[in-house]
This record gives sequence, structure tokens and C-alpha cells, in this order.
Amino acid sequence: MTHLPTDTVPSRTTKWDHGLRRKALVAKILAEIFNGTLAAGQRLVAQDLAERYGVSQTPIREALIALAALGTIDLLPNRGAIVRRVGKCEVREVCQVRRVLECEAVRMACGMMTAESLDAIGIAIRQIRSHCHTASEELVRIALVVDSRLHDEIAAACGNELLAREIGRLKLLFRAFRDGSWERVATRNDYSRLIIEADEHLRIIDALKANDPVSAVDAMAQHIESGERYWIGVTYDRTAVTETSSPEKRDTR
Ligand SMILES: [Zn+2]
Repeated sequence: MTHLPTDTVPSRTTKWDHGLRRKALVAKILAEIFNGTLAAGQRLVAQDLAERYGVSQTPIREALIALAALGTIDLLPNRGAIVRRVGKCEVREVCQVRRVLECEAVRMACGMMTAESLDAIGIAIRQIRSHCHTASEELVRIALVVDSRLHDEIAAACGNELLAREIGRLKLLFRAFRDGSWERVATRNDYSRLIIEADEHLRIIDALKANDPVSAVDAMAQHIESGERYWIGVTYDRTAVTETSSPEKRDTR
């Protein structure tokens, strides 16, 4: 099995300490918004969040500002931070923006990535694919790292710093949806999507290696649209939080 680093993979067992980076905190809160632990309309109190994650209020406030910039919470005068609705419609909108950004990035990255780099990612993907018959949560964790690596390397190679930065800013949102979706894959013990995603990634890599921007854009668009359908399929369509509501009750799939 591949020996790719797994330190960037989110884990439910991560120990939250005072040195926690803001990005990790944003990712954790986003995951809880996506999985329904934090519901639409819920008020987020910095002190409560600080106690919950075992950090000071300073990184919490910074994380709330970053979450407001991503459009997932509203910062209201005298009311604090309120969780916005993140349902199927919002996931679709995020995916539309992602498709525009990442298709342009992959078009511009054609001819800018080394064969060695693309081959290394391709080998890792084929290893994942060959282990899909005995898939496990660990294989999903590795697949997430490889997915991040491919998309990060494409953004880094696109030659437009502003585009790469914007993808970097929004990827916290993309990856919260992605990771939340995969958590449910593991819960259902259904790993068929690993094979689909591996094949989509290999198509992108083949087009990049062939220096074929038309095919690369087409492959990236199909990959993101496929992810969109999957993410929407596992998204809770939430209504505003009530005293008695729970994630299960809000699931209207
Ligand atoms: Zn991907």
C-alpha cells in the first residue's frame, strides 16, 4: 500500500489543544455544520466553542471570521455568529464555483506539471484502486490525501497566483463537503465511489500528461459534477434549528 503522508487527513480523534491552527478549527466547525451537529439558525458562542475545542477564544473568533467569509455563518451585530443553511441548493452553488475555478486551473496547468509528479500521483491512485475490494476507512483516509494532493498540485501549477489562492481559500469548504460525504460512505460500508473517483482522477492525469487542455477540462468538469451529485445525495436538507430537531429528523433524503 502507498506510504503517502496522512497528517492532513481530518480525524475524529484529533486532540484539540491551544496550538490548534485556525484552518484546522475552521475545517472542524465546517464539518459539524455539514454533518448537522451545528444546525442552520444555531447561534455560535465563542466561549462555548472555545471550551468545546479546548482552545482560547482568539482562534475561535478568527475561525468565525473565516467561516463568515466562506458564507457558512452570518456575523450579526448584537447577535454574534449564526449558522447559515447548508443544504442541497448551497452545495450545488459551491460546486458550480468549484467547477469554474478548477477547470480553469487544470487548463492552465497543462504542460506545467512534470511527468514524475503526475506519475507519482497516478501510481498512488492505482494502488488505491487495486485495494478497493478490501476497502476500509484507512483506504478512504489515504484516498483523501491523494485527492488533495492532485488538486493542490494542479492549482499550484496553474501559473495564476490569484486563482490558486482563491481555490486555496474555498477548498476548506470543498473539503468539508467531501470529507463529510466520505464519513457517510464509511458508515454505510459502501466504497464503490473509491473506484469511480480513482478513474476520474486518472482521466485528469492522462490528459495532463498528454498536454491536452480540452480533455483535461472535460475530465475535471466530469469529476466535479460527479462529486456534486454524490455530495448532494448525502446532504441533509436542513431547516432552521428547533429545540427538538436532530440530524436524523432533518434528513429529508
Ligand atoms: Zn478529486
